[in-house]
Amino acid sequence: MTRFLLATHNQNKLHEFRVLLEGLKDKIGAYELLSFSNIGYHDEIEETGTTFEENALIKAKCGAALGYITFADDSGLSVDALDGAPGIYSARYSGGHGSDEDNNQLLLKNLAGKENRDAHYVCAIACVFPSGESFTVRGECHGVILDEYRGSGGFGYDPLFYVPSIAKTFGEASLAEKNQISHRGIAAEKFAAELEKRLCDSRERESIC
Ligand code: IMP
Repeated sequence: MTRFLLATHNQNKLHEFRVLLEGLKDKIGAYELLSFSNIGYHDEIEETGTTFEENALIKAKCGAALGYITFADDSGLSVDALDGAPGIYSARYSGGHGSDEDNNQLLLKNLAGKENRDAHYVCAIACVFPSGESFTVRGECHGVILDEYRGSGGFGYDPLFYVPSIAKTFGEASLAEKNQISHRGIAAEKFAAELEKRLCDSRERESIC
C-alpha cells in the first residue's frame, strides 16, 4: 500500500486532508496518510519562505528526506487594500501567538475607512518525492471582508470572509459547502489529479500501472 506523509503535527489538518482526498483511493488504490506525529517526528519546522509555495516546499522536503512521499500545505488570506497582507503571516498577523480574534480585530482596524474590501484566500500544496522530484499546486477563493462577523463556523478569518457566489461568509457555510469552493478544496483537487498522473507515470515506467 502506498504511504504518504502530510508534513504537519496538526491532527485536525490531517483529518481535513483525509476528507478532501477521499476520492483519491478510487484513482490510485488503497493508501495510508500519516502525519509527523504518527511517525514520531516532533521538530518544529521554520517557515522561512517568502511565498506560500516556498513554505509548503520547505515542510514537504523535511518529510521526503525521511523517505516518504510527502506533501504539505501553506495557506492564508491576501487583502488587496493591504497590499496582500496578512499573506504568509496570516496565522501570526497580530503577533507571535495571536488568536483568531486578535487577528480579525487587527484586520478590521487596518481596513477601517478603506473602500476596497476585495480579498482572497490562497492555499499552496507542495509534494516532494524521496527522489527529490517535486510539484506545487495553488487554489484561490475570492471574496470580500465584511465590517462585522457573520456566523460562527470555520476558523481564522472565516466569519469576516464573505463569498458572493454562495451569499454567505465562510463562518456561515457548512464544511461541505466551504470545501467545494475553498482555496483548500480547489488545491486538493488539483493536487490529487497531479499526484495520480505522476504515480501512474512512474508505475508505467516500472510496468506495474
Ligand atoms: P495554515 O498555514 O494553513 O495553517 O494557515 C495559516 C493561517 O491562514 C491560519 O491560521 C488562518 O489564520 C489563515 N487561514 C488559512 N486558511 C483559512 C481558512 O480556510 N479559513 C480561515 N482562515 C484561514
